[in-house]
Amino acid sequence: QKAEWAKLVDEKTVSLDGKHVELAANIGTPDDLDGVKANGGEGIGLYRTEFLYMGRDQLPTEEEQFEAYKKVLEGMDGKPVIVRTLDIGGDKELPYLELPEELNPFLGFRAIRLCLEEQEIFRTQLRALLRASIYGNLKIMFPMIATLQEFRQAKAILEEEKDSLMKAGEKVADHIELGIMVEIPSTAVMADQFAKEVDFFSIGTNDLIQYTMAADRMNERVSYLYQPYNPAILRLVKNVIDASHREGKWTGMCGEMAGDELAIPLLLGLGLDEFSMSATSILRARSQIRNLSKLEMEKLAEKALELGTAEEVVQLVKETLSE
Ligand code: PEP
Ligand code: MG
Repeated sequence: QKAEWAKLVDEKTVSLDGKHVELAANIGTPDDLDGVKANGGEGIGLYRTEFLYMGRDQLPTEEEQFEAYKKVLEGMDGKPVIVRTLDIGGDKELPYLELPEELNPFLGFRAIRLCLEEQEIFRTQLRALLRASIYGNLKIMFPMIATLQEFRQAKAILEEEKDSLMKAGEKVADHIELGIMVEIPSTAVMADQFAKEVDFFSIGTNDLIQYTMAADRMNERVSYLYQPYNPAILRLVKNVIDASHREGKWTGMCGEMAGDELAIPLLLGLGLDEFSMSATSILRARSQIRNLSKLEMEKLAEKALELGTAEEVVQLVKETLSE
């Protein structure tokens, strides 16, 4: 089977009835690029920049960041690279920021919330990204967006940094697509409004599931509630994809669910445009999608959305796949 998959490294990901989707990789450092290429990644769907900030005792400089971003952009040779701005907090701590302990870190001062408050940290990262943008196909994505206001504020800061770099004579790419992670239910529900202002969505199911089900993603005792196939999740995913398409935008997914064998048929049916996963899952997913009919998966998704429980959804998908 692995040998069969290996033949798909340079192939496109097209369903039996001709629908092309993009299979991208999640990475944490520039060193991950070899694995992405070996596994035929069509782009980077999520570059988690936290690792630049972790395992050290001070913030990375603009120059250090610039070098890392440039390396990834050049390494991907013009293929799309979605860089997520700093998503610290929750399960990822930065001791040197000396933030007060919180009762509910996953509901607390993290990611874009921290960046909008500690603006120098955010602006430094944005400058590094903007300067690196001329070395490839950069898209920027903000994590943990809960309100349109947050998005507008983050976008305004990005524009300010862009203007000031350009005034200083620095080169910056003409157009950089700007998107958000959809990982908070309020944003999934309000996707129609967001879709008018963002260039793309990337659904972060790892957090979207935890927040929708009110089940800590790290807590074993409530893991039975962590249900990717719950129709509530599928309905939110559908809402986001449909809203983006109505505005001529696109939706990807970079949570674990995007690489899941039972989820992929549903996501294809719901119209997901881009699937971002660990590099080692890409060839398996490509092989799977090439053997699925988009039209049949649309029918499957439609049925799944009307079911009552995750178990029923799983059963339906398994039955459909075994036909
Ligand atoms: C997610 O929440 O689905 C996601 C991709 O981000 P992270 O796992 O880094 O929180
Ligand atoms: Mg997340």
